[in-house]
Amino acid sequence: MKSTVPDQRPNILYIMSDDHAAHAIGAYGSRINQTPQLDRIAQEGMRFDHCFCTNSICTPSRATILTGLYSHENGVLTLADHLDHHVLTFPQLLRAAGYQTAIVGKWHLGHGRRWDPAGFDYWSVLPDQGEYFDPPMYEMGHRRVFPGYATDIITDLSLDWLRRRDPERPFFLMCHHKAPHRPWLPDAKHAQLYEDVDLPLPPTFDDDYATRPAAEAAHMRIARDLNAEDLKRPMPAGLTPAGQTEWKYQRYIKDYLRCVASIDDNVGRLLDYLDAEGLSENTMVVYTSDQGFFLGDHGWYDKRFMYEQSLKMPLLVRYPREVAPGSHCSAMALNVDFAPTFLDLAGVGIPETFQGTSLRPLLGGSTPPDWQKTMYYRYWMHLDEPHHVWAHYGVRSERHKLIYYYGEALGAAGAHDRPTPKTWELFDLQEDPYELHNRYDDPAYQTVVAELKAELQRLQERLHDIPVE
Ligand code: CA
Repeated sequence: MKSTVPDQRPNILYIMSDDHAAHAIGAYGSRINQTPQLDRIAQEGMRFDHCFCTNSICTPSRATILTGLYSHENGVLTLADHLDHHVLTFPQLLRAAGYQTAIVGKWHLGHGRRWDPAGFDYWSVLPDQGEYFDPPMYEMGHRRVFPGYATDIITDLSLDWLRRRDPERPFFLMCHHKAPHRPWLPDAKHAQLYEDVDLPLPPTFDDDYATRPAAEAAHMRIARDLNAEDLKRPMPAGLTPAGQTEWKYQRYIKDYLRCVASIDDNVGRLLDYLDAEGLSENTMVVYTSDQGFFLGDHGWYDKRFMYEQSLKMPLLVRYPREVAPGSHCSAMALNVDFAPTFLDLAGVGIPETFQGTSLRPLLGGSTPPDWQKTMYYRYWMHLDEPHHVWAHYGVRSERHKLIYYYGEALGAAGAHDRPTPKTWELFDLQEDPYELHNRYDDPAYQTVVAELKAELQRLQERLHDIPVE
């Protein structure tokens, strides 16, 4: 028998882009672009200033978000791993509780019966990384090609699904953009944006990596490692070496921001739909990215490192019933906390196996006294091609960060079994927010080093990870 009591549980619209760093969002004080539609979410909701991913790379972050588990617990350590559908995810629980569920766009967790999206009434996902133009998609297991630009198409399909949903039941929709992932292909509408301006360089653009051998060893330098597909145009003749590097930066950052501009427009379309349908009050809107990105910071593109620009995820949440407009949260939030948060909001029990904690108190404006003040990070894909980033784990507190590059692949898929030096880094984020000065051997910081090593050990024990000797 159909209930006559309207279902008051919130709808959840979860929008996630791929590699969109917080410092390319207006609401986060971007120096290089404007994002009026994303800023609407922040103005009408909450901006998290310390949201971090626990493994800064696409596939593992997505697996952690879905499972509420760290990489070593859900088995998705690197880009080469898939998420087995036997692993419990929160959309399965929402669906079992009566939510209508859908995912559109980037999946990147494997294809085929064992790895296709589980727990969704509707899914239409890009194969692997997907294409920017005329993307093929797997729609409920069937391959279809959609003419047009991926960011528009992913939004169109999301809106189509919203329009044909059952309005009597709450929905949970994951709208996952491919953009602004490499190779940063903008659409025609935004292709000329910034054409006549030079965008400012970040403060650490000329980092010399002194005291940080792992940083020096990485192959993600704008000056050296961008390829012809990234740059898309022949370099003008007659530039000095410094001029060549800056030309490459402008090529890179402008195309990246053009891709972001399309996301911003399309987020606006979704927000307008919610307004027009009277759904804004009872819908939680989340905007985030699977990790951060280096936008010329440290002379780099890409992510992977535990450094701030890569570690930090944008997280904007609008939910008028519980979140004050224009609010900020400085407490630590992690991608592993997303799954329990959505279950909490939906009134669904959080499995004891989940390792994260619901962010709902933070959304309501109060930070519990025992809230996390440190976080654990681990990047497994040792010496990945082509970036050559060394595997590492570490701990970030509110003021400091300790990183251990343990120098081994440990059998992780896609990692290369070649030893690198075992090295440590310590940063004082208050004195050195740009993380240029490794203080690990500084006598003045030995107490901090000892405290953070103890905290690292405590976190590894609590989260059931195994230290590397
Ligand atoms: Ca990504």
